[in-house]
Formats: sequence, C-alpha cells, structure tokens
Amino acid sequence: MRAYDLIRKKRDGFPLSVEELQFMVRGASTGSIADEQLAAFLMAVYFRGMDAAELPAWLDAMLHSGQVLDLSAIPGRKVDKHSTGGVGDKISLPLAPLVAVCGVKVPMVSGRGLGHTGGTLDKLESIPGFNVNLSIAQFTELVNELGVCLIGQTAEIAPADRKLYALRDATATVESVPLISSSILSKKLAEGIDALVLDVKVGRGAFMKSLPDARLLARTMVDLCRAVGRGCTALLTDMDAPLGSAVGNAVEVQEAIDILRGEGPQDVRELTLQLGIEMLLAGDAPGVNGDAAAARKMLEAAISTGSGLTRFRELIQAQGGDPRVLDDPMRLPQPKLIREIRAVRSGVLTALDAGLVGLAAVDLGAGRERKEDAVDHAAGLLLLKRVGDQVKDGDVLAELHAATEERLDKGELRLRSAVTLGESAPPRKPLILERIA
Ligand code: URA
Repeated sequence: MRAYDLIRKKRDGFPLSVEELQFMVRGASTGSIADEQLAAFLMAVYFRGMDAAELPAWLDAMLHSGQVLDLSAIPGRKVDKHSTGGVGDKISLPLAPLVAVCGVKVPMVSGRGLGHTGGTLDKLESIPGFNVNLSIAQFTELVNELGVCLIGQTAEIAPADRKLYALRDATATVESVPLISSSILSKKLAEGIDALVLDVKVGRGAFMKSLPDARLLARTMVDLCRAVGRGCTALLTDMDAPLGSAVGNAVEVQEAIDILRGEGPQDVRELTLQLGIEMLLAGDAPGVNGDAAAARKMLEAAISTGSGLTRFRELIQAQGGDPRVLDDPMRLPQPKLIREIRAVRSGVLTALDAGLVGLAAVDLGAGRERKEDAVDHAAGLLLLKRVGDQVKDGDVLAELHAATEERLDKGELRLRSAVTLGESAPPRKPLILERIA
C-alpha cells in the first residue's frame, strides 16, 4: 500500500477500505508516512468527508493507535462528559463528584485551555498541589475507590490524534465534522468508558456558531459512538454569552465550589443538573431506572446534603491538592491587581459576546495564546451584569483580575468590545437548545 495512492483515491471521492484507513493511521502514529502526505490526506478528507462505513473504521484505528484502558474490573458503568469548549464552562468540576456520589463512575480525562476557551486541567491546577498527571494505575484506583478521578491526557492515549491534530491546526483542516468527531472520540473512548455525554456548545463563544452545524456534529458523534458499541447522548447548549459569572481559573474553581454548596449562578447549576441527569441515565445509576425526574432529585440531594462537596474534598485530597480551599477562598491564587469596569451609559445589557470575553480572559493572563504558554491561575474576570440586566451609568459591569496594569488595559479594551447596551431586553434564549439521542 502507498500513501500516495490512498490520497489520490480519497481526493477523487472513493471510499477507503478498513485496511487502507488503518494504514494511514499507523503512518501517523509511527511516523512512517511523511507529514506532507498526511496533511494532503487530511485536506482530501476535509473536502470529501467519510462515509458511514469509513468513519467507525477510522475512529477504531485512531482509538487503538495507543493505550485503551480496561476498567471492566471496576463494578458499575463508567460515564464521562465532554464539552466542545466554551467560556466560563466549569461544569466538569461540580458535575464529576455529584455524579460519582449518585453511583456512576466518572473516569475523566480532560484538556487544557486553548484560544479563547478554558480547560478543566488549568482550573484544577489553581488548587495548590492538585496533580493532574497521575499514572494509569493511580487513575484506575481512584475511579474504583472514589468513583471519580480527573487527569490530563497521557502520551500513550491516541498518539495518532496528537500527530494529526497538530497537522490540522497548521493546515486549516480542523473544521471537518468527521475529523473533529473521530479526534474527540478517539481520546474519550480510550478512557474505557461505557457511555459519553456530550455538551455541544453553540454560539459566539463556541466552535460551532450555528445550530445546524452543532446538530450535525452532535448527530455524527452520537451515531459514531453507538457504531463502536458505546452509549452516547448530546445536549446542544447556548454559548452566545459566557456560562456563569466567573471566567478564568481560580475564579471558576470558586464558582464551582459555590454550586456544590447550593449557591452560585442559576445557569451553571441548571446545566450541571441537566448533564448530570444524562450521565445518571447513561450510567444506569442505582434507583434511577431511566427516570430523569428521579435522577434530578438525586443530584439535588447530593448538593443540598453536601455529599457532592464532600466527594470533591476527598478527590482534591487524593490528587494531592489542598482541600482547605473549600472553606477558605483566600487559599486559592489571589490576583495582584483588580480593576472594576464601569458602564459609561445606561441601558439594558443585550449581548455579552462569549468569544470576546474569552479573549479578554486570555489578555488578562488566564489563557494561552500558544500551546506552550503558562497560565496565570489568579487571572480572570467576574461578570457582575448578565444579559438582560438593567445597567445604570457608572454601574460595575465586571471585575478584572491580572498581574499587571498592561494586562488590565488590554483586558478592559477587549471586555468593553464584548458588551452591547440597548434599549430593551432581548428574548431569553434557552440554555439547552436541543437533546440528541
Ligand atoms: N477538540 C479535539 O480534541 N479535536 C478536534 O478535532 C477539535 C476539538
């Protein structure tokens, strides 16, 4: 077999066989196919797509390009959640311990922030001492003992995706539904899960800007997951404006703690509950029996009794972090400088562009411009006004946290560009736009 022939075949619109797809994936993970040939192949897939027989075979080859965890010795179903990336999306932090308390195992391999979106690992690392680089043996042990563990992707998981994603990033071939679906699922399914719940974000701050695009991605991923024998449901959720009030790392951990205490913003609580319901249904949680209302009650009880917060405390302790952050917010990284951003006229807040707010957080130091950049865990922002709120001239719209005045200046400029004030409140958009099962 020659890569050249397979590139030409795909370019001309012919489907590839299982063996041919495996050959390309093997070439990516071993380096036996040159970068320029892999890149040309990716561009051919970008234009020609993959059919219903090719995509599961391609995913299977990507998944098996590295280590696939076997958690079958741990009793019960294992379920994870994946978000396609948003701004202020701290849902994994309260969600994972809540679902674990309700009896479903959550082996969660998370990512870092890139571009305007945040990442769960960066948020967790703002807890002093928290270690996201556990061995697979430690990960498995914690999933068994606590029902939950949150780590970063290891070098052994889906190496073909690492190679192909870097090439896609450099060759304008990221925005392809078959390539995105197989990339995400190859990493998530390597965790040894039985089912996956997807939070596909839609809107200004999301990867998918329109509902039809998000729907197509969700449908493809749900069908693909099923085709390889795992359960999957997806919620399409609004990401026109940031989720909750906090955007950054330490500030988002604090908001997640608030949710586990039964406090915090309503949209963060509601999305945590909705995704939790999906995870309890997918995981056949004891006592749920397919009943969403029963699942909701269990999750609400885990919040009101404090058992979710206790599980989060145990998880932090088990992963080397300082659990005292739960009782004393001052133990989280604190910003050197804080600046209040005030409205310069009165009106109704009609839009708060999540993409621009995410970039403001990056300007402040909370995110990365390049993969190798370090993040400032204390940097970020708190939105004190939300879409639909009445604003008076001089009201504080947001509080910015950063290490330098220069960063505050950049962040302020960007945040101001994210804010639109108008005369009347826009129609309220639902948080959950659609469910795809
Ligand atoms: N996230 C991934 O992991 N892969 C993609 O292709 C896009 C987003």
